[in-house]
Amino acid sequence: MKSEIRALATNCGFDDCRFARVGQAPHSLEYFFWLRAGSHASMTWLGRDPARRADPSRVLLNAKTLLVLAKNYFQGPNPRSQAGKIARYAWGTDYHEIMLKDMAPIEALLREKGGRQKCYVDTGPILERDFAAVAGLSWQGKSTMCLNERLGTWFFIGVILTTLEFEADLPAKNRCGKCTRCIDVCPTRAITQPYQLDARRCISYLTIEHKGPIPIEFRSAMGDRIYGCDDCLDVCPWNRFAELTRETRFTLPDRLKALTLRQLAVLSDNDFRALFRNSPIKRIGRVRFVRNVCIALGNAGTTEDMAILHGLAKDHDPLIAEHASWAVEQIRNRCDRQVSNRVAPAEM
Ligand code: SF4
Ligand code: SF4
Repeated sequence: MKSEIRALATNCGFDDCRFARVGQAPHSLEYFFWLRAGSHASMTWLGRDPARRADPSRVLLNAKTLLVLAKNYFQGPNPRSQAGKIARYAWGTDYHEIMLKDMAPIEALLREKGGRQKCYVDTGPILERDFAAVAGLSWQGKSTMCLNERLGTWFFIGVILTTLEFEADLPAKNRCGKCTRCIDVCPTRAITQPYQLDARRCISYLTIEHKGPIPIEFRSAMGDRIYGCDDCLDVCPWNRFAELTRETRFTLPDRLKALTLRQLAVLSDNDFRALFRNSPIKRIGRVRFVRNVCIALGNAGTTEDMAILHGLAKDHDPLIAEHASWAVEQIRNRCDRQVSNRVAPAEM
């Protein structure tokens, strides 16, 4: 039955499918300590009922096996021609929808064979990354991201918890070796030590999950990133082997390729909803998105962006207004520095 399921997974567009026995997640203790240190920041769902999250048998009565599925989302180089980086995983259609839809035929087959199942993509009460390692799908790198020898880091994980019993696959070996590239490249030092990520410092967390003002100390390091950050993934040597995905729904739509930061900064609520209709970006809403765009303008903008930023600095939403004022200040300081650099040699 394993080969039948694997063949179906391939037909459903998955790039790997592995099996793990249900049991305590091997890194449960580290996870509890991580929560206790508050490193999950405002992602409160990660701290909800941690004992259950670390033991899938508490999630589904009589659960015996976890099927762990991977779908490649690597689409090659960034096709955006303008400043304003978006993390690769968010270029196309929301992966939750795609993954759950593509997992449905596998769940149906397991049901036919007498199993009861629960399917999760990212948001369920399961430590997916830990079980992906137990199942041999991937190892958790020093960046805390999952790595697969064939897919690199560019894949989504889906988990089907079932009451059916399958022979478990062998666990994955950690192949990070002496490499520390992800730690060295992180602009905000969010990977505080190998395998430890402090979400409060991570640009992905700050631009996506964090609801309030972005702490000043991280704003310059954000550069022109407007949704997520791929730096620790881009440098990973295992991504040299990454192949392009077969899934066309993960590609960046044409309408997003050439939009400038200035155009993104003035999106109305309706424009925002229409532009990001099927995208995971819609989840953060226009206000947080414009907050991020203001920071990118502060870091990469010019005097030509000042008029728009002055307008946004009077926005009725204090989050937008404060970030726009910060951006104005940054551009002004940059211009002043350029002028004084030009003047200085003549004065000498
Ligand atoms: S996503 Fe960016 S900020 Fe977060 S750990 Fe990776 S490199 Fe650092
Ligand atoms: S960059 Fe190096 S240390 Fe970091 S996850 Fe990749 S292989 Fe591991």
